[in-house]
Amino acid sequence: MRFLENFLLTDRNTLKLPSRARFFAAPETRDELHSLLNTVTARNLPVMVLGGGSNVVFAGDFQGLVLQPAMRGIRCIGETAGHYLVEAEAGEPWPDFVQYCLARNWYGLENLSLIPGTVGAAPIQNIGAYGVEITDRLHSLTALELATGRVREFSHADCRFGYRESVFKQDLRDRYIIARVRFLLQKKPVLKTAYADIQQELAVRGIDAPTPQQVATAVIAIRTRKLPSPAVLANAGSFFKNPVVSVAVLDEIKSRFPDVIAYPQADGAKLAAGWLIEKAGWKGRSIGPVGAYEKQALVLVNHGGATGADVIAVASAIQQAVTSMFGVQLEMEPRIYGI
Ligand SMILES: Cc1cc2nc3c(=O)[nH]c(=O)nc-3n(C[C@H](O)[C@H](O)[C@H](O)COP(=O)(O)OP(=O)(O)OC[C@H]3O[C@@H](n4cnc5c(N)ncnc54)[C@H](O)[C@@H]3O)c2cc1C
Repeated sequence: MRFLENFLLTDRNTLKLPSRARFFAAPETRDELHSLLNTVTARNLPVMVLGGGSNVVFAGDFQGLVLQPAMRGIRCIGETAGHYLVEAEAGEPWPDFVQYCLARNWYGLENLSLIPGTVGAAPIQNIGAYGVEITDRLHSLTALELATGRVREFSHADCRFGYRESVFKQDLRDRYIIARVRFLLQKKPVLKTAYADIQQELAVRGIDAPTPQQVATAVIAIRTRKLPSPAVLANAGSFFKNPVVSVAVLDEIKSRFPDVIAYPQADGAKLAAGWLIEKAGWKGRSIGPVGAYEKQALVLVNHGGATGADVIAVASAIQQAVTSMFGVQLEMEPRIYGI
């Protein structure tokens, strides 16, 4: 397996940031991945795993190997009375995987339609949308330890999923490459249509007993309307997590801003980060080539020619504005590399 050298990553990240990797490789088979990891171990190279680049900010060059899994394949490997066990290789594009499953009547992923990225990256931050997260559907996964190439199986419990969290962002950060993921998908659909956006979209289409494909189509329509396509306007989706605050903090904010958007949680509330950013005056505002998207303040966009430093400067300015107005700290969702 050949390493490409001094590889430009602009077209490998959806923010279109122009970093370079000292080495780059995209293994297409399990064997290629194994032999690559053996070489890496022998050479003692730092490794960064890259999926579709839709949740990263490159703030500098990477002086090691950027490894982008390109293994493809989807198969049903078992079934129970109510479910199919479906396995997909890490390099499968996530939106195509969702459509592939729907076309075969394997249900449960419709609300996660059109989320950019790869199957291998989906467990990293437990992707979620419209009331479903992959923790609800994931059965297990296979990963390889970067330092040794050793294969390890992870059960659902091993992944320790949380809101945009997993063990791969915490204790095992940068330790493993996810090679394939297994999902338990329903034979009979159990649709989740409670979100107001989905309800409205189905109503507009005159659908009151939707099929899974109709839910997926509705989700795709909503997302297309609300979020900029990275192919048209460079972005990394939601740039900040929705902050979770205590009841006391929520009450204090409510006393000043009765229209605050908050979702109740077990021990407090999750605030809509987009609302906080908009209230802080950042919707549609830019510094140089980077700004908060005019239709959704939570999304930072690169209007052209930005560097990672430009993105981080805007993100920091937004964090400061939100902290000084609400006393709440916003946490960035994408992984920042190179600082
Ligand atoms: C327009 C837009 C909308 C979005 N909407 C949503 C949404 O609704 N919900 C949501 O949850 N996210 C959303 N995202 C974020 C993003 O799509 C997800 O986080 C996605 O899972 C990232 O996949 P990726 O392949 O692009 O990963 P990358 O951005 O390439 O990588 C992200 C992280 O995962 C690690 N990683 C990637 N692949 C592997 C692997 N095989 N093994 C180990 N580590 C790996 C990388 O090292 C990096 O730290 C959105 C992004 C965009 C641009």
